[in-house]
Amino acid sequence: MKKLTVIVPCYNEELVLKESYRRTKEALKKISLQTEIMYINDGSSDATRFMLDGIAASDSQVKVIHFSRNFGHQPAVTAGINHCDADFVVIIDADMQDPPELIPDILALQEKEQADVVYCVRKSREGESLFKKLTAKLFYRTLNYMSDVDFPVDTGDFRMINRKVMDQFNQLKERGKYIRGLISWVGFKQVPFYYERESRIAGETKYPLSKMWKFASTAMLYFSKKPLHLAMSMGFLAVFIGIVLAVWFTLGKIYGFSHAEIGWTSIMTSIIFFGGVQLLTVGVLGQYIGILFDEVKARPEYIIAEKKNFEK
Ligand code: UDP
Ligand code: MG
Repeated sequence: MKKLTVIVPCYNEELVLKESYRRTKEALKKISLQTEIMYINDGSSDATRFMLDGIAASDSQVKVIHFSRNFGHQPAVTAGINHCDADFVVIIDADMQDPPELIPDILALQEKEQADVVYCVRKSREGESLFKKLTAKLFYRTLNYMSDVDFPVDTGDFRMINRKVMDQFNQLKERGKYIRGLISWVGFKQVPFYYERESRIAGETKYPLSKMWKFASTAMLYFSKKPLHLAMSMGFLAVFIGIVLAVWFTLGKIYGFSHAEIGWTSIMTSIIFFGGVQLLTVGVLGQYIGILFDEVKARPEYIIAEKKNFEK
């Protein structure tokens, strides 16, 4: 019998876990496959750890991975995929923004379309700040413009993938993982599933601005070289303007139509402007060197402290 694993990354989710487990379990009853839930505790500092151990002790269909500290949402999902032995996997958030009740419909669509990936597209996002909605819209569209891969917009990691895609994903060596992008990049048959994103049932977002920024910059830097191209284009433009000005002022001196000595303002403006362009381009270069540095160090993406209900 084929098997489905639901991967749930959790970071300080004590307020939602009980309800999340109940609803997911209930939804899985409607599926005619063998099912299990895999929780990845991403170094929570609240009761999440003990709650998960409790669930795992009472339900052998629940696997738990505890990280040694908080590594982040993407490493948590990666660990889930790495440790999954099922034929299908559904990635879902713990906070019930993505309703687990949709899992049977997602599987039905997979079956009907014989899809390798069913990615869930948010028709609407309930209960999220205007700032989050706006930055998300901007981010997905900019990323699409910047990268060579065509990503579906307004999708999160809420999706179903099959064994074939998991195997390809597990081959990927890069440590900075933008999972939804990588899964699009892998290819095969990918179909959308439209849904309404709900509000978090309790607790606060675990994605503060600092994590959002890291997430967005990983996506940009790993999927696009356009920032480097833009930096170079700016360089070309500056050189071109420089040459034009040099010719203009030299001819002006010879033929007497330029009185360059007066130009304090123009000199200051260009020093500031081109100084800025240089810092910016060095900064862009620095970002790419930074990710090379991280990749060369080749540290693991996550460290596991303990596993529950995995066979020895
Ligand atoms: N999460 C995680 N590690 C982190 C941050 C978040 O495992 O460092 C989990 C979190 O518990 C949730 C999911 O990732 O299950 C998505 O986080 P959240 O709902 O806070 O993000 P949002 O929906 O606000 O973007
Ligand atoms: Mg959420």
